[in-house]
Amino acid sequence: MEYPRAPKAAGAQCFSPDYATARDRFLRAAEGVAALGRLPLDVLGPRGEPLAIDIAWIGSPAPSRALVHTSGMHGIEGFAGSAIQLALLLQPVAVPPDGALVLVHALNPYGMAWLRRVNENNVDLNRNFLAPGESYAGAPLAYHRVAGLLNPPTPPRYDFFLLRAALLAFRYGFKSLRQAIVAGQYEYPKGLFYGGRRLEQGPSRYREWLAERLRPASRVFAIDVHTGLGKWCQESLFLRRSGADPAELGGKLGRHLVGDPSEDGVGYRIQGGYAGAFDALAPGVETHLIIQEFGTAPGVRVLHALREENRWHHYGAGTPDHRVKARLQEMFCPRSPRWREFVLARGVSLARAVMQELFR
Ligand SMILES: [Zn+2]
Repeated sequence: MEYPRAPKAAGAQCFSPDYATARDRFLRAAEGVAALGRLPLDVLGPRGEPLAIDIAWIGSPAPSRALVHTSGMHGIEGFAGSAIQLALLLQPVAVPPDGALVLVHALNPYGMAWLRRVNENNVDLNRNFLAPGESYAGAPLAYHRVAGLLNPPTPPRYDFFLLRAALLAFRYGFKSLRQAIVAGQYEYPKGLFYGGRRLEQGPSRYREWLAERLRPASRVFAIDVHTGLGKWCQESLFLRRSGADPAELGGKLGRHLVGDPSEDGVGYRIQGGYAGAFDALAPGVETHLIIQEFGTAPGVRVLHALREENRWHHYGAGTPDHRVKARLQEMFCPRSPRWREFVLARGVSLARAVMQELFR
């Protein structure tokens, strides 16, 4: 099956300035093209509107093979994935009678609506899918050392963060410190990279829904889009939950896939990642999860922006109109047309390559 290429003109125009606009465009583009589903959550957006995870389903309602494409696991990172999904809806591809393309818009709608990376309980959803037997407790030793610097209980203000972070990195080693900070922690509920106390409502409803709807499937690909990791305009593709050799599968997709996220120097290991959502699928289902990351800015600048927004949320008014929110949005979805066009082209072409492999 041949899939046409996305026209360049679609480019940056597929990006939306806020969650409400992104959702509206997603729903309108899906009309007549996809069956729409909704997983309502018990949370409200900035205008008091109820929030939900929206789903556009193209193809068989009981597919034997499916591509599940997700955006907004990390709230504010969702603008990139949302743009890619809009482009996929605007130029729908042919899906075979036993196949499905499933577009899941904003796994964390609260974070996307309020311009946060985390959800309504300050939980990093990509640290929340713990495996059976793992406990929602503890933090890496080095996280305790830096918790005071990372999570000051005061509103945003200039306090020599970059200098102090550099001193700590010099003392403890940049790589091990970074690994300890981002791995996931379960002890500081108002802190960065907090994984929660239990499976959150969004992940829980999504996981149940996924298992139910993909019951007939024997082969599932998933693409989960993220931003903020890696250099400007750098794409990293991490293969998880797959029995395939990353090099071999990457060859078929025409892309470089990395098996161990810490191996290429960009990624890192985490606890409670999204791969856990697929535990609920029937045993024996062939699953390949690709985490698609787009770099924006140096890690320490991204961390600084996260820190200031976190202070504003917990110790300020938390409103979306503050400069720390704009700063965070720029860190996770730069306004640069070049960055946006790059992300859209790579995002659409990966989804199409996966469909070509899955639906051939
Ligand atoms: Zn992310």
